[in-house]
Amino acid sequence: VRTYTVDAIVLRRRPLGEADRILTLLSRERGKISAVAKGVRKTQSKFGARLDFFNRAIVTLHAGRSLDIVTGATSVGGAWERIVDPDVFAFTSYLATAIDDLSEPGMAIPELFDVLCETHDALAAGVTPGALAAAVDLQILAALGLAPELSACARCGDQLGRRPLAGGRATLSPFAGGLICRRCAQDPALVEVSRRPGEQSLTVSAGELAALRALSNASLTELSGHETFASLATVTHPFVRHHLGTRSRSLMAADRP
Ligand SMILES: [Zn+2]
Repeated sequence: VRTYTVDAIVLRRRPLGEADRILTLLSRERGKISAVAKGVRKTQSKFGARLDFFNRAIVTLHAGRSLDIVTGATSVGGAWERIVDPDVFAFTSYLATAIDDLSEPGMAIPELFDVLCETHDALAAGVTPGALAAAVDLQILAALGLAPELSACARCGDQLGRRPLAGGRATLSPFAGGLICRRCAQDPALVEVSRRPGEQSLTVSAGELAALRALSNASLTELSGHETFASLATVTHPFVRHHLGTRSRSLMAADRP
């Protein structure tokens, strides 16, 4: 069967020729897909608007020799208007870039698609990017199997539980992959790594650590009004950036003969 249908969110759009676009979609059924949407930059295009950035749509595609061709699209969940809000646009652009860079083409990860759909619904319901940012980072990383370790030491495996580690502060290392115990925090190798740009260890209060643990499983639509969580994104963003950096380094390594 050369024609197939997917439930998808538009991650990226690039112009192609006079009237076409190349779309990057994240779909539930097939993961990331690159496809050509013909004629969508013409004003009378019947599905151009349904394939706007970060729209969710049921998309029908025809498998092509190199790129697949979009043959139809139906919006899911009605009009998407919050994208005109600059904060929402900046947040969704960040998410789309991170997901595009961290996911493999053609590899379905339904949990990742679910996080993106729930983010879409929460934004449409008026939840602010500030209230969502840390929870979405943690849930995207978890869907990709990259969740920060928040219970045990990510380096030696010691269970740390609720115990504040030193003076009421806990230390997290993007390089180590999560929480690190007092002993490992003194490890010269880790101290050396944490001098690198973007790999600095982070300290959080016991309350912030508890909030990070809760946000890993929180319902995104229920975070409305929780603006206090916005500051936790300064802890979760370095973990996302660490994996983005690791990925580009590993791609460079794979390119070597
Ligand atoms: Zn340790």
